[in-house]
Amino acid sequence: MEEETIFGKILKGEIPCEEIYSDELCLAFKDIEPQAPVHILIIPRKKIRSLKDAKIEDQEILGHLLLVASKIAAIEKIEEWRTIINTGETAGQTVFHLHLHVIGGRSLKWPPG
Ligand code: AMP
Repeated sequence: MEEETIFGKILKGEIPCEEIYSDELCLAFKDIEPQAPVHILIIPRKKIRSLKDAKIEDQEILGHLLLVASKIAAIEKIEEWRTIINTGETAGQTVFHLHLHVIGGRSLKWPPG
């Protein structure tokens, strides 16, 4: 069986996180190494390894994560933000439990490195 990720452990409450929002489909918490004044991760409760492993039956979860990003922005009192999903190692994915970054609170450059 595939080894549990750090986010799997956070979901089980085995390691702590700074929770921002939680519902039946997802959990959102502060990134441990924030890249901006606001840097929140939203993860599905269902273990999905990465975006490319998502299936048609995950459609509701994927849509939900995007809508929760707006809730996070409201909670964090930011009007504008960037959402990022890194998919695969060369794209910068380091934790293989799907997650959406919500980054804001400062001016962001484009394109990313
Ligand atoms: P990615 O590189 O897209 O896979 O993003 C993984 C993110 O998880 C990084 O921004 C890390 O800083 C963050 N991270 C790793 N471990 C933890 C943790 N225990 N609590 C909160 N964020 C974490």
